Amino acid sequence: MAGAMAIIIDGKAAAAGLRQGLASEVRAIEAAGGPVPGLRVVIVGDHPASRTYVRTKTKVAQEIGIDGALVELPATVTTAELLAVVGELNDDPTTHGILVQLPLPAQVDAARILAAIDPAKDVDGFHPLNVGRLFASSRPSAEVLLVPCTPLGCMHLLAGVHGPGGLSGAHAVVLGRSNIVGKPMAALLLGADCTVTVAHSKTRDLAGLCRSADVLVAAVGRPRLVQGDWLKPGATVLDVGINRVEGLGLVGDVDFEAAVAVAGAITPVPGGVGPMTVASLMRNTLTAYRLQVGALA
Ligand code: NAD
Repeated sequence: MAGAMAIIIDGKAAAAGLRQGLASEVRAIEAAGGPVPGLRVVIVGDHPASRTYVRTKTKVAQEIGIDGALVELPATVTTAELLAVVGELNDDPTTHGILVQLPLPAQVDAARILAAIDPAKDVDGFHPLNVGRLFASSRPSAEVLLVPCTPLGCMHLLAGVHGPGGLSGAHAVVLGRSNIVGKPMAALLLGADCTVTVAHSKTRDLAGLCRSADVLVAAVGRPRLVQGDWLKPGATVLDVGINRVEGLGLVGDVDFEAAVAVAGAITPVPGGVGPMTVASLMRNTLTAYRLQVGALA
């Protein structure tokens, strides 16, 4: 409703709820005497933001009972050396999930590395086989598919707002067409029966397009690109962007202060989509475990 304040979607609370459910799944595995789910996060070099992300990932894994550990490699690593590490992890029965933190240094062929990960252990969902499965599935399900973590987390938040089947027929506009967020997000929204438009840097009349969106997912990386008057009153807005702006700290791709007066529901930055990404990685680790070890207890 125009004029009313939007519901602020609490990604921290949603992520905590998801983590709690996953922790009890891990306890059930333990109680049944199953092997401990293992996640290995490969980090190359000492990029500070990447270091922070990977530490959070292994810490959250440990908190819910997953054996999460870092595999640290120097910035000078070659494609062949990294392929050898991935090969060892593929063959290691205590490793159920493998994540190679991006970006990789320029001398490494990132596409070759991602394609070398065992698709059953590919907890980022970036392997071409998993990308193909996602796009070929009419009803993508995180129970059987390894789906990129950020879009998976976004779908969890949307389910909380709209309920089962509640997105059917909605016009969803996705801003951004990256392999990590935009494209898999579009596939998941199609699977939820939305009519989906994917916009990007060459799209004409972005503002007009956004005004026709019942659901808007912004994954661009431009601070406060989306203005309040770009929104349809009552729209659901997921702000994936994380932009560090001097004097403002972290801001999203949406002008939150303006949007909150127009949208029906909106995620803040920080505390919206971000926490769901890490929780979804844990969800994928248990899906990968199930794909390898069999049904959970
Ligand atoms: P990317 O740079 O790979 O892709 C950005 C996309 O935005 C491109 O497809 C580009 O065409 C489009 N774009 C650029 N300028 C545009 C414009 N003016 N209008 C419309 N589209 C435009 O980025 P990405 O990896 O998809 O990440 C996008 C943002 O999401 C970044 O801020 C990133 O930090 C953030 N991110 C957050 C999480 C999370 O967990 N919250 C996870 C991944 C990425």
